[in-house]
Amino acid sequence: MTKVWIGTNWKMTKTISEGLAYTRELKKLAESITPNIELFIIPSFTSLLPIREELSGSRIKLGAQNMHWEDRGAYTGEISPRMLDEIGIDLIELGHSERRQYYNENDVDINKKVHAALKYGMRPLVCIGESIDQKNNGISKEVLAAQLKVCLKNVTTEQAQHVLIAYEPVWAIGERGIPAEADYVGEIHSFLRKNLVDLYGEKVGQEIPLLYGGSVRLDNFLNYIQQTNVNGLFVGRTAWNMETFSVLLNEL
Ligand code: 13P
Repeated sequence: MTKVWIGTNWKMTKTISEGLAYTRELKKLAESITPNIELFIIPSFTSLLPIREELSGSRIKLGAQNMHWEDRGAYTGEISPRMLDEIGIDLIELGHSERRQYYNENDVDINKKVHAALKYGMRPLVCIGESIDQKNNGISKEVLAAQLKVCLKNVTTEQAQHVLIAYEPVWAIGERGIPAEADYVGEIHSFLRKNLVDLYGEKVGQEIPLLYGGSVRLDNFLNYIQQTNVNGLFVGRTAWNMETFSVLLNEL
């Protein structure tokens, strides 16, 4: 049975108590959904420790939304890999378009964070995506190939087995996002797969999970997941509410 990665980035939405209530419901749901789903949640930093405890014994993986690359130091407001490792974080989401847009994160920074995550045995979930201007100018593939190459610079084939990639076109994300056509997503994912195979060879290149994210909704998620080379979905708004998320998970 092939694995399907389904996860949610909570962004800056849930308090600890809201997050715990959500997690308790999801834990129950996780017991009844198909076992080939690799389920993960990515809460805010303040919720990570209590949710780690709540998830004890559960199949649900836990991620963090960002991380500094240094182990420690004078970086006010930052969280280090050592601190996240102490909590027992499985995944680190890196390079989300909101981090790139509002906090000037770039591919070089993301590459340092990828290496830091791998050093601590945490799986980097690297987000890439083109802007609407780049798409309209016909350079989406060039932009994505460059993002992939720089974010994964000096990542060995052995290490690449622990990496996940999320394709999230900037123009498809959030309230003002326009859902992407499923065919377009399929075409881009096949292109990304080819790039990964070029970088890491047939075996590892084919196995790196490629997730799709951006306005994934109940009326379109099946079209995305049916595309070749879409190995999972990275969901925002639709997964923040258990009523809609449970429909999605039960239909997979
Ligand atoms: P939406 O599903 O709300 O568009 O958000 C997607 C996202 O940013 C996941 O990281």
